[in-house]
Amino acid sequence: MEILRGFKDVLPKDIEKWHKLERIARDTLESFGFKEIRTPVLEKTSLFARGVGEDTDIVEKEMYTFLDKSEESVTLRPEGTAGVVRAFIDNHMENLPYKKYYYIGPMFRYERPQKGRLRQFNQIGVEVFGISNPSVDAEVVYMDKVMLGKLGLNNLRIEINNIGCSRCRPGYMKKLKEYFYEHKDGLCEDCKRRLEKNPLRILDCKNKNCRLIAKNAPLITQFACAECKEHYEKAKVKLKNLNIEFIENPYLVRGLDYYTKFVFEIITDELGAQGTVSAGGRYDGLVKQLGGGDIPGIGFASGCERLIELMEFEEDKLFEYYVANLESDDYAVEIAAKLIEVTQKRVYVEYEKKSLKSMMKKADKMNASFVVIIGENEKNSNTVVLKDMKNSTQNEYKLKTFLDNEVKRWV
Ligand SMILES: [Zn+2]
Ligand SMILES: [Zn+2]
Repeated sequence: MEILRGFKDVLPKDIEKWHKLERIARDTLESFGFKEIRTPVLEKTSLFARGVGEDTDIVEKEMYTFLDKSEESVTLRPEGTAGVVRAFIDNHMENLPYKKYYYIGPMFRYERPQKGRLRQFNQIGVEVFGISNPSVDAEVVYMDKVMLGKLGLNNLRIEINNIGCSRCRPGYMKKLKEYFYEHKDGLCEDCKRRLEKNPLRILDCKNKNCRLIAKNAPLITQFACAECKEHYEKAKVKLKNLNIEFIENPYLVRGLDYYTKFVFEIITDELGAQGTVSAGGRYDGLVKQLGGGDIPGIGFASGCERLIELMEFEEDKLFEYYVANLESDDYAVEIAAKLIEVTQKRVYVEYEKKSLKSMMKKADKMNASFVVIIGENEKNSNTVVLKDMKNSTQNEYKLKTFLDNEVKRWV
């Protein structure tokens, strides 16, 4: 059997990386007062059609959508925000005293698989509800940067833009459309298609010709309403107050319809074209659009696979102890249980009956620090033999002495 194209197993040898990423992310986000929320991976298709936007690439061509057995159209979530907003509304979370949440989990998009892009990928994301104050925009960027820093990512560039709101964007879109229609022939096929429904996306097309044409396109900054302008200017001041360096990029648009006012990306140069490690922004109309109150929101998401690619890892030990169980299963398990209890370390008990030599080889492959050798003799004399794999010393101990020593070792 083969795995589906664009899907990937995370094997035990790599799991420490995932644990490390998740641990650092959780610790950082929780320290900023964010609480975890877990929403289903499967939702009604209409949630994403309404939440992400009918005219986005995601909804148009990248979703895993199918009819379930009762003929309801359902979709594997292509992103995290719509589900969190739905949960926020469904569970009346506007009544909770805390309104900052984060999630970690798999998303699904039917895209052409390529290096660094999977059809099932994982994201760490945050959402903040009910705060229109631009200070929170700056705090979210700050927190994102802190998290990435703790993961060992440096040389990061922060780009921001004002993307307008439901009041000023339609007028801007009209001007943008007019401009791109004048230059229609020079646009790539994708952009010709985007022209009618989503001209904003042409601004960040990677095609050379499209970029040239986009260079002279009207910018949202010229059309943004007073409220958007004021919000954006204040957010910039707050960022400066937090000593966060940023670049204003008027061509920065996000692939999702729901963003408003302030958007940002955090970019690294170490990955070439796939350089964005985190992206987000404000979505002040989304809660209302999905049936909730007039509640503003802001968030970001980071792709876990990309983060892991950029993080540095020491070679991890799989287990601290390998129990070379030669013939006394019960005694071996008893000792392992005691060892785990007193040291809290990882102990692997062998059950395949092999020679001591082949067990030693295995322990070495597992990169175990110590081998506990247990055979008939040890059982009868209530002792163990401990081999230190680092300096190859080997000694026999009474069980109690052994346990006492091992407790001290890890203090
Ligand atoms: Zn506006
Ligand atoms: Zn294009």
